Amino acid sequence: SGKLYLIPTPIGNLEDITLRAIRILKEVDILLAEDTRTSGSLLKHLEIDKKAFSHHQHNEHKATQEIIKFLLAGKSVGLISDAGTPAISDPGFFLVRAAIKEGIDVECLPGPTAFVPALVNSGLPSESFTFEGFLPVKKGRQTLLKKLATEERTMIFYESPHRLLKTLEDFAQYFGEDRQGSVSRELTKLFEETVRGTVVELKSHFENNTLKGEFVICIAGFIPTKDKKNKTYNDID
Ligand code: SAM
Repeated sequence: SGKLYLIPTPIGNLEDITLRAIRILKEVDILLAEDTRTSGSLLKHLEIDKKAFSHHQHNEHKATQEIIKFLLAGKSVGLISDAGTPAISDPGFFLVRAAIKEGIDVECLPGPTAFVPALVNSGLPSESFTFEGFLPVKKGRQTLLKKLATEERTMIFYESPHRLLKTLEDFAQYFGEDRQGSVSRELTKLFEETVRGTVVELKSHFENNTLKGEFVICIAGFIPTKDKKNKTYNDID
């Protein structure tokens, strides 16, 4: 059978595509994209004359069996999302699972994804962390926040501009006002910035500043009281 490739694409800066990603984009028999307009401009920029087929959240389930048929017939398939690594807060998981079930080779190329630079820029412990993606907006939000209040690893969240302040406010409420964190915005782009401080400081910074762009929030893990004297690396001085 053919092979399924997950191909990371830039999260802003078009220079962040690997040589191998470009080669695989050219070579695959079938290219699937979350949004064919976004993929169209990337392919044009890379001077790749190829048409992508749409594979998004809403047809992900239904399209999977069709794609598996192509793969079983020996065709190679590439999947890209609008930005970053497919299957990371983006479509891809169902296809990967279905391919593995059918014994089809799956290969995810390493490449751009927003949470890695955000975590490293945060200055918070990075030897162990939990990636939470987007918090649920309503159902399950409180329960998860309560559970995460005692999570000891650094936590990483994706957030949209219009929910950033509400989410920082919830963090202050559930994790405590003095919990350390960082907000990275516009990673790899011209106006990239990372702001560090307590969740309350982060909130007031963004209340007074632009809320344009895309955001990754990192939050320091909970430090059990008995450890507080020895463990100071969660504090950004
Ligand atoms: N697949 C992507 C990845 O690998 O990171 C994530 C896609 S998800 C739909 C989009 C979210 O990723 C945004 O809301 C934001 O939280 C984060 N993100 C993507 N690009 C970013 C950037 N340049 N700067 C900051 N955050 C970004």
